[in-house]
Amino acid sequence: MDRIYNFSAGPSMLPLEVLEKAQKELVCYKNSGMSVMEMSHRSKDFEEIIFSAENTLRELMDIPSEYEVLFLQGGASLQFAMVPLNLMVNYHCADFVNTGQWSKKAISEAARYGKVNIVASSEDKTFSYIPDLKPEIFSTNVDYTYLVLNNTIYGTQIPDAKLPNIAGVPLVGDMSSNILAQVYDIRKFGLVFAGAQKNLGQAGVTIVIVHKDLVGNHMDITPSMLQYSIHAKERSLYNTPPTYAIYIAGLVFDWVKQMGGVAAMQKHNEEKAGLLYDYLDNSSLFKGTVVPEDRSLMNVPFVLPTAELDAAFIKEATAKGFANLKGHRSVGGMRASIYNAMPTEGVRALVELMGKFEVENK
Ligand code: PMP
Repeated sequence: MDRIYNFSAGPSMLPLEVLEKAQKELVCYKNSGMSVMEMSHRSKDFEEIIFSAENTLRELMDIPSEYEVLFLQGGASLQFAMVPLNLMVNYHCADFVNTGQWSKKAISEAARYGKVNIVASSEDKTFSYIPDLKPEIFSTNVDYTYLVLNNTIYGTQIPDAKLPNIAGVPLVGDMSSNILAQVYDIRKFGLVFAGAQKNLGQAGVTIVIVHKDLVGNHMDITPSMLQYSIHAKERSLYNTPPTYAIYIAGLVFDWVKQMGGVAAMQKHNEEKAGLLYDYLDNSSLFKGTVVPEDRSLMNVPFVLPTAELDAAFIKEATAKGFANLKGHRSVGGMRASIYNAMPTEGVRALVELMGKFEVENK
């Protein structure tokens, strides 16, 4: 069977070049005589894989030496607990902006360990916009301010230019669904994290980029495995890391570099998302659900006038090789996730299909 266009929110499409390279090296990695899966994490070959992955990521995101880059497990969801356990140590309090399910989960987890202030929310309109992040809503006597930079389910984003700047308070960003897809100045953050299964490769590894000043002050109850300091000290080799997922992430980093880096990816992503949003803005049948100024480059939710039409469109699209267009179960409708690896032709073909459906169902 031929490969199809996969619009899944994650795990999602990987660059074909990465899959083919992994296929070539699957059984025997370079001169090691074994697969990366079979390799000791303490071997020279694996050290080369993890350290060069770290270096390429540092280069791509322009991460200065005052930041640690960690390869951890437990998904982005474990960071909902690790962040407060390691950072909520002075004021025992943090500010949160509630922009959807992933911030709600982070809020309820953080509330186990300290006080949470929900300083703004867009729940009143089904998270279809980003609340105004004006400086006066944020506290200064908190351990950190927490934002989700791209809301995978609702299709909103907070780009670099709209990040709040709160003097003396570290910014924590969940970058799970837009890391390496658009440019952020890492120096504006105390910590960012991202699960790998959207823009970085396969599920199983979570990247944490954390300023060294925030490492080492965890709560006493923090299990060793959840202390950033232990992983930083051991360069993510405290225990057996998810070796193959790290290898694949390294291949994805090399691919992004070959594509011209993050700024080039952003331009590519703006063109791709632009095709779809332009179509939605001009269609008399399909409608985007997010206010134009907060639209995500990665996840594009849209609806038809009735649930029956939504179902008919998804059925037709699936039959024609456009997979996983069904919206998240909490919002319905459709969602096209168009991460870095989705080619422009995939989006163009989707727009064509929508145009045809519109003509046939007017
Ligand atoms: N944050 C965001 C923005 C996400 O999109 C997701 C997963 N879709 C998560 C957190 C949770 O990630 P994981 O499944 O890796 O725990």
